[in-house]
Amino acid sequence: MKKRLFSGLQPSGEIHLGNYLGAIQNWVSLMDTYECIYCIVDYHAITATYDVAMMRENIEDALLVYIACGIDPEAATIFLQSDVPEHTELAWIFNTVTPMGLLERMTQYKDKAKQNKENVNVGLFDYPVLQAADILLYKAEMVPVGQDQVQHVEFTRDVARKFNNLYGDAFPEPKALLSHTPKVLGLDGKSKMSKSMKNYVSVLAEPEVVHKSLATAVTDVNRKRRSDPGNPEVCNIFTLHRSFSSEQEIVHVDTECRTAGIGCIDCKKILANNINTHMEPIRDKFCSMKDDHNYIGDVLAAGAEKIRPIARDTMAEVRDKLGITRKNGG
Ligand code: SF4
Repeated sequence: MKKRLFSGLQPSGEIHLGNYLGAIQNWVSLMDTYECIYCIVDYHAITATYDVAMMRENIEDALLVYIACGIDPEAATIFLQSDVPEHTELAWIFNTVTPMGLLERMTQYKDKAKQNKENVNVGLFDYPVLQAADILLYKAEMVPVGQDQVQHVEFTRDVARKFNNLYGDAFPEPKALLSHTPKVLGLDGKSKMSKSMKNYVSVLAEPEVVHKSLATAVTDVNRKRRSDPGNPEVCNIFTLHRSFSSEQEIVHVDTECRTAGIGCIDCKKILANNINTHMEPIRDKFCSMKDDHNYIGDVLAAGAEKIRPIARDTMAEVRDKLGITRKNGG
């Protein structure tokens, strides 16, 4: 029996290289080892101000990026969170076992609240509870995450423990599975790559856009002139080379940067070319499916159909433990 694994991404616009390296690429490699459930978490996406007219397209694009990157919907389950209402039902129940203090400690909430001062809503605060419900609804044992999500998996473990202590064992305490690239910095070279920070490169960016974006990226800030030797260890461009360039090129950049043998403009060009070569088949596959709305609908419907029985079974067990099952078994 394979262990069950759950993860998800918000359909909140363009999926970027940080999502790709930190999550999706890792998801693909986990499909042989685990029973994988990959969700498009639309109820999480509405906790921030968003463009209603774009939501359906964002959902479809997220699905197609998953598939274009190599997630096989036959081998893994891909589905839309709002197609399975048990997520929000279980989140409400978890609200009643979660101490406020536990939520108040969540650093991601504090960061997002600072970034979205005009819309600090209860859903944003309660986000980790819905995330715990997403994972525990399927009794997932493993959660592949980036560094910034480890606290949320710890939170999920706390919620599972609290529920089990109060009502009897129902949930496993899932473990975080750190991705190979647990933190991907953005073009500013200091914050995590994200849409809200506008420091990202989209996985679907056209080649010239990749070149233009990288041209603006911050490198080793101590390398002021072309003739100054640089330090690749503190340069985010070099970190990205590690993900997209060959061993030979990585060694070349490392050596030539330290001796000022290569300038940052040329170094970025090599990286941009390698990103474009790597992403080209993904972009092509995405474009070939983009207008096939029947296919998109069929994949989402099949995913929801496959996953709903697990969600229903968990909720029947939870209601029973809470003492709210009807006598006729309904
Ligand atoms: Fe960074 Fe490359 Fe410039 Fe060195 S040469 S500082 S690795 S961009």
